[in-house]
Amino acid sequence: MSDERPDDPQVRYDQARYVENGEYEPLLSEKDLTRVEIGGGEETADGESPLPDDLTRDSLELPELSEPELARHYTRLSQMIYGIDSGPYPLGSCTMKYNPKFTEDVAALPSAAVHPDRSEGSVQGNLELLYRLQDYLGRIGGMDAVTLQPPAGAAGEFVGIRVAAAYHEHNGEGHRDEVIVPESAHGTNFATAALGGYDVVSLPSDDEGRVDLEALEAALSENTAALMLTNPNTLGLFERDITEIAELVHDAGGLLYYDGANLNALLGRARPGDMGFDVMHYNVHKTFATPHGGGGPGAGPVGVVDDLAPFLPAPRVRQREAESAGGEPRYERFEPDHTIGKVHGFHGNWLVLLKAFAYIARLGDEGLADASASAVLNANYLAERIEYDVPYGPFHHEFVASAGEQDAADVAKRMLDYGVHPPTTKWPEIVPEALMTEPTEVESKATLDRLAAAFNAVAGEDDATLADAPERTTARRIDQTSAARTPRLSWHHLEDE
Ligand SMILES: *Cc1c(COP(=O)(O)O)cnc(C)c1O
Repeated sequence: MSDERPDDPQVRYDQARYVENGEYEPLLSEKDLTRVEIGGGEETADGESPLPDDLTRDSLELPELSEPELARHYTRLSQMIYGIDSGPYPLGSCTMKYNPKFTEDVAALPSAAVHPDRSEGSVQGNLELLYRLQDYLGRIGGMDAVTLQPPAGAAGEFVGIRVAAAYHEHNGEGHRDEVIVPESAHGTNFATAALGGYDVVSLPSDDEGRVDLEALEAALSENTAALMLTNPNTLGLFERDITEIAELVHDAGGLLYYDGANLNALLGRARPGDMGFDVMHYNVHKTFATPHGGGGPGAGPVGVVDDLAPFLPAPRVRQREAESAGGEPRYERFEPDHTIGKVHGFHGNWLVLLKAFAYIARLGDEGLADASASAVLNANYLAERIEYDVPYGPFHHEFVASAGEQDAADVAKRMLDYGVHPPTTKWPEIVPEALMTEPTEVESKATLDRLAAAFNAVAGEDDATLADAPERTTARRIDQTSAARTPRLSWHHLEDE
């Protein structure tokens, strides 16, 4: 990546504007010009530095700031962005729910910070927790065995597809080289199948936005390795024909993969395993606490039915059969017989898993079922309240509205001016100018009304207003393509240019 400053007049213009409006928050080094010099280079007895010349410096100059100045700086920065603690965040398919702070407290316990290389006997509590989380997730999904290793949903998909491949190979069915993915699926499903070495067969939706059974029958063959399905799908619609779909896939000798990103809609009510799914991932950072976004970290455990368990990544945790009198450890790591190997260090993202465990344990069966009920109720309430057209329904935990003649990206920018975060836009593509909205279970009716009011205010505005939005945010329209392609990774003072 280049650290040369790209030509980005828009960003530069905005920075100048913040300075003018007093909205610009200077860097700490700009705030204070008195500098404290810290240390010189390390020297050995013979006066030579042990480090290469280009890695040494004579001294480090740091700004000298008081504690309140420092606290205010970070508070100001936090106020310049919009986060889950600022207001509703209805980003469909991402489940940006507010996460209870107690899960953070649990992750911050000193006993949570253990070195992953410690002996089994000295980390029995940690292993028990991982074991019980495997068990919780297995019971929630209706799966027989779970690995906690994958660090995200997409990584879980990759593991699931590799496990499916190993299973087919083991059964002398290695010729199966196709994975079927519905056209409304998340981009990671297509990417996973391709990265797993498969040809991707795209499956059209029917008029109601669900899997088209005839098209599925036509797509299935002796080359089918798996069908990847999200249920409810990305339109928030439950696949009513799921048992029939499962039968068709199994009759063709394929496996049924469940993308668990929308598990929030089913928690405590229905289980993918009971619907006929053979393998699934859980996005614990979407369903069971941990703030999602900003690239992680997350966790994407994978659950499978018995037949696939021997192929799961290692290590997993199991309980020893007999409790020995000599105080032998009860929980141990083990490697499944035909494991596909390791996909992450140790057990995966331990602190994320710990938060998921705490969340599930605190809510219990009833709490989880309540969470899905509220998620579904909130989505349906909001869908009724907004003036944008919502072409499909009834929904589960999310819905997709259409911005119609307006540009969905402009609608999103404008919603920021009304003090709320916009929904996911322009996807899935079967709804033109899609506004994919997931209010989540944690928002109150008052907040949903405020969100609906923001949608409806924007729905009545003209293109010129939308094209100029947002007006009230600290950063306005930035050049997102340049920001992504040529990120500026070093800082230069404006006046130095
Ligand atoms: C978020 C999402 C994924 C990918 O999960 P990550 O945890 O973000 O890697 C896959 N499928 C669907 C439907 C999703 O919404």
